[in-house]
Amino acid sequence: MDLEVVTVGTELLLGFTLDGNTADIGRLLSPIGCNVVRSTSVADDEEAIRDAVLGGLSRTGTVVVTGGLGPTCDDITKKVVAGIFEAPLELDLGYLEKLEAKFAKVRTGPMPSANKSQAEIPRGAKVLRNPRGTAPGLLLDGDPGMAILLPGVPVEMRGLMENEVVPLLRRQIRTAHSRESVTRSCTIRTTGVSESQLAGDLSEVGQFPDYVTLSYLPGVDGVDLRLTIKNVSDSDATRSLERAKEIVLPRIGSRFYGLAPVTLAEVLINHLRDEQMRIAVAESCTGGMIGARLTTVAGASDVFAGGIICYENASKIRDLGVGGATLEEAGSVSEPVAREMADGVCRRFQTEVGVAVTGIAGPDGGTPEKPVGTVWMAARVGSTTRAVRRWFPGKRSEVRKRSAQGALDLVRGLLDPE
Ligand code: AMP
Ligand code: MG
Repeated sequence: MDLEVVTVGTELLLGFTLDGNTADIGRLLSPIGCNVVRSTSVADDEEAIRDAVLGGLSRTGTVVVTGGLGPTCDDITKKVVAGIFEAPLELDLGYLEKLEAKFAKVRTGPMPSANKSQAEIPRGAKVLRNPRGTAPGLLLDGDPGMAILLPGVPVEMRGLMENEVVPLLRRQIRTAHSRESVTRSCTIRTTGVSESQLAGDLSEVGQFPDYVTLSYLPGVDGVDLRLTIKNVSDSDATRSLERAKEIVLPRIGSRFYGLAPVTLAEVLINHLRDEQMRIAVAESCTGGMIGARLTTVAGASDVFAGGIICYENASKIRDLGVGGATLEEAGSVSEPVAREMADGVCRRFQTEVGVAVTGIAGPDGGTPEKPVGTVWMAARVGSTTRAVRRWFPGKRSEVRKRSAQGALDLVRGLLDPE
């Protein structure tokens, strides 16, 4: 089944709000064999909404619209789409009562009169329950097709998608097609290797069996390799994706660290737990990002001891025991300083594992020998300390993110020698 998405909101076009709704809808629908084939963002404008919805209906017969269901005068989606279906808006007294009860429960004072418009339902439309908000979802079915209207607020939209729209479309697809058909993906996560290097390693694969496709998704944390299969049964999808994975994994070796949605921090925490080792972090240019990533993982306290943000040289000396002479001779962004930081933080926290980062995140502070993006990282596991220098591209925020990921990966490599 194909459908189109229309997101409504002037803020989306001005760039103040990022359209996450289309992504969420695509992700929720593809597993049930429902393909989003086009998405259009339009302003809160009658002509634009009408055009986009009618276009989608004429092409696929089904449109999911988000946004513009609020109680204020800029929210016109319902009126416009009701117009397309020639369904007059009628006050639903039952819904109005529920709405008033909702306000009585959570708010002081009576319901603002503007909210009354949210109880106006296009004649013949099905109301989709929205327990997280005041605007109901609506389903209009008839000439010229099926339109599903959802509120723009992402958490409300997702709730309605999961609890109402996905089950409804799944039933519809099962009735229409005797054979189940799904679209599924499996995402192989890599770090420390470029997109083109990976492409080189995989060049001789050519076409994957069963028409599985491969996409390269580069980001600051690494390159994700997404394998996708479309329009097959659930069990065929599992089998084909598994076969494709077995083709990819041996070719990319240790650059693979897990399957999405796993993070490198999660992988590391689990690894440390298995080895019964604890980790401490010494962070200069990352300013706590490595500690933040590790503590994002529930259960980090099993293995994460703590960290020092040693930004100024005095802190590197006082808090980690880095030698004043080392700093003087090699400079704060150098191999010996990174090593002494990693060793020092292990001593300080009495851990088997330590990781340290010192670098020039920019935009200032670069020199010809150490340009912006130069980062020294060191990891200690047991009595072995390994240090590496990297030159990370990008702006300050990117250099810092890449450094945090690179440091976690350095520990992973040392824990798991090839
Ligand atoms: P609305 O239903 O149009 O009143 O939208 C309410 C809020 O939801 C807006 O202020 C936006 O912050 C958010 N929103 C609307 N559309 C989207 C979208 N496509 N992606 C992410 N957020 C959205
Ligand atoms: Mg809006």
